[in-house]
Amino acid sequence: MYLNILDEVERAEIKESRQPGDVNLMVVSKTFAAKDIEPVLQQGARIFGENRVQEAQTKWPDLKAIYADVELHLIGPLQSNKTAEAVALFDAIHTIDRKKIADYVAKEQQKQGRELDLFIQVNIGDEAQKAGISLAELDEFCHYCRHQKGLNIVGLMCIPPAQHDAAPYFALLQKRAKTFGLKGLSMGMSADFKTAIRLGATHIRVGSAIFGQRG
Ligand SMILES: *Cc1c(COP(=O)(O)O)cnc(C)c1O
Repeated sequence: MYLNILDEVERAEIKESRQPGDVNLMVVSKTFAAKDIEPVLQQGARIFGENRVQEAQTKWPDLKAIYADVELHLIGPLQSNKTAEAVALFDAIHTIDRKKIADYVAKEQQKQGRELDLFIQVNIGDEAQKAGISLAELDEFCHYCRHQKGLNIVGLMCIPPAQHDAAPYFALLQKRAKTFGLKGLSMGMSADFKTAIRLGATHIRVGSAIFGQRG
């Protein structure tokens, strides 16, 4: 299934006049065991997403020992008490969404001598229950991360409101990223990754379309 999705991504790049290879297909392997992940690694996938630090720690150190060129991305909320583990294990974090976490990540990166690719998560639908910095606070927060904390912010990430057409939200994220000169756009999941590719996604996060439904 991974190869089918990769093929769809490559077709969408052509259709939407994107440069070949512009779109990184991230395989979201949360809830799946190493034995389910290995076949996808054998098919050549090298970018994986997990949403829990602890779960990732149980499976990825062993897999990374075999597949050294794997890039591991954290796409779920980061608790401050997990920052050290996250900075040590992951290559990118897509959920930087508040000053406290920006502070912790900056401090931990310095301590470990690591510099991750970081995305700011935006609460694009201004939903009360959703993670992410609000649109109103985004400018100031982005400035804080980059210029006060020196973080390597590479892009913006969003999860649009459920049961809505994602397109206007993706378009808005693209517009905001452009105002900061940020190229990275982490948006699009199994149901809407083609729409996201049309609207400039550089990282699509696909789980169930590759692995089937999560149990
Ligand atoms: C689980 C998850 C995905 C993948 O969702 P699918 O619908 O299974 O493709 C993408 N992004 C985030 C943040 C997730 O938690």
